Amino acid sequence: MPEGDTVWNTAQLLHGALAGATIRHSDFRVPSLATVDLSGWTATGCASRGKHLLLRLTGPGGERQVTLHSHLRMNGLWRVYSPGEHWRGGPSHEIRVVLRTLASVAVGYHLHDLALVPTDEEPRLVGHLGPDLLGPPGQPGGWDAAEAVRRLRAQPDRAIAEALLDQRHLAGIGNLYKSEVLFLRGLSPWTPVADVDNLEAVVTLAQKLLAANRGRWTQATTGSLRRGEEVYVYGRAGAPCRRCGTLIRREEQGDRVTFWCPRCQPARR
Ligand SMILES: [Zn+2]
Repeated sequence: MPEGDTVWNTAQLLHGALAGATIRHSDFRVPSLATVDLSGWTATGCASRGKHLLLRLTGPGGERQVTLHSHLRMNGLWRVYSPGEHWRGGPSHEIRVVLRTLASVAVGYHLHDLALVPTDEEPRLVGHLGPDLLGPPGQPGGWDAAEAVRRLRAQPDRAIAEALLDQRHLAGIGNLYKSEVLFLRGLSPWTPVADVDNLEAVVTLAQKLLAANRGRWTQATTGSLRRGEEVYVYGRAGAPCRRCGTLIRREEQGDRVTFWCPRCQPARR
């Protein structure tokens, strides 16, 4: 499940492969960018902002800067290959873009919201986002727990699970971390934001969990990286709670599903 940590890792991968390199050939397989040719452009770097990826490029004369935006949603991914290496990221009809440099080939599969904008217009794409859980503190858009809490509190009647997924409040949490953070804090997913005693502790824990998984592709919240032991509740409907043995439940909430232990996360009354 691509969440902020996966997107951060992907930005590192693309940055390492492309930064400083000139694109020799580009191939966009989405109608809106079908005629775009980035050959001769140089990649200057790649950054993540919440769950958004920003690959920045500078034109052949150095005057123009553009940003290639992509979003992974549920199933998108970028892979980097050596020239001549077999591509294993998925069937070719899922490929949305191919960028070739002398040393590597970056292939984007199932990407969403693929767009090319002047770099100074990036705020149009990511300006609405709340503080980035993995962004550098003290920098614009970077992590700021107090600001995340302030934004969450602005909608006091909203269920905490839905509020945490709203990227305008804080950017980078997806369904896995949402479910796990609420379990670890003993909060029912339906608790109104106003009834959460310590919102600061909730967002701080979310930040810690994402940061702990940065740099690896396995997402673990239990401290165990062993297959089947990585998480407490996410994806474990019908399995016993690791703390109390009660069966984990799964229910639709808004347009997502949520997983929780009814005993460890009792509804407030
Ligand atoms: Zn339990």
